[in-house]
Amino acid sequence: MSDSISPAFSLEFFPPRDLAGQERLVRAAKQMLAIQPKYVSVTFGAGGSTRAGTADAVRTLRNLGCDAAPHLSCVGASRQDLRDILLSYKNEGVRRVVALRGDLPSGMGGDAGELRYANELVSFIREETGDWFHIEVAAYPEMHPQAANPSADLAHFVAKMQAGADSAITQYFFNADAYFDFVERARAKGVSAPIVPGIMPITNHTQLLRFSEMCGAEVPRWIRLRLAEFGDDKASIRAFGVDVVTELCQTLLENGAPGLHFYTLNHAEAPMAIWKSLSR
Ligand code: FAD
Repeated sequence: MSDSISPAFSLEFFPPRDLAGQERLVRAAKQMLAIQPKYVSVTFGAGGSTRAGTADAVRTLRNLGCDAAPHLSCVGASRQDLRDILLSYKNEGVRRVVALRGDLPSGMGGDAGELRYANELVSFIREETGDWFHIEVAAYPEMHPQAANPSADLAHFVAKMQAGADSAITQYFFNADAYFDFVERARAKGVSAPIVPGIMPITNHTQLLRFSEMCGAEVPRWIRLRLAEFGDDKASIRAFGVDVVTELCQTLLENGAPGLHFYTLNHAEAPMAIWKSLSR
């Protein structure tokens, strides 16, 4: 990684569920301060299931000196719920949010909430709080799984940016070309804001396949075959994962990605190993 590139790294965490999880979050975040993240973000359980947990984790991370951004999703929420959450973050001095539609967990009933899509949430945040928040939104280089086709999905992404988002973080992917193609198509539609690749470290074969199935990220056949061959050999999976993901990050940064957003899953080891390999 040459000095001239100086990419911005950001880190994503989820709100811990218990004391042990809380300790793990703090330990991981402290270790990763070495990366000097531009900001860190904390996910939100759509429907509000982690409302307090997200706010607590944001406070914890801010106390460690990080610029911490809560994720906020509109599905299942009323305008008043969203207003209350935004105002409490504003009162605490939080300046950045990740605005999402979210997906209601199965079994949570059919109340979709008052805002249907993330572009409506972005507009709502701007109406309620003006320019207070830097707004990040989600982007899908390999297409959101519910979209009718890539062009429709791109049009919806452009609508989110036009509604007032400042930058975007992508769903993870392992095909760099999907990212470059998406950025090119977004630029052709007039989006000039940064689109930062979301990076998923490879540490667990079964979990990776499950996540990828749910979110529509393609795990290339050669990666699936190599992972299957490692079986339960966790050390080999991790070493292979660091090599593959470092190479992906290098390709992305060398070809113009403005930074990298690591999905840490509250563990420092894999993102740190990738970051160190990139720094060599
Ligand atoms: P949208 O941008 O609203 O898009 C959702 C779907 O609707 C897409 O298929 C889109 O093409 C379509 N669409 C959009 N607008 C319209 C329209 N006007 N008419 C018709 N169709 C439309 N989930 C969580 O629950 N909590 C989190 O913290 C969280 N963090 C995330 C962080 C990142 C960086 C990413 C990439 C995803 C995250 N997710 C999270 C997952 C996300 O909530 C889901 O992918 C969700 O299904 C879509 O959210 P969105 O904000 O991208 O939705």
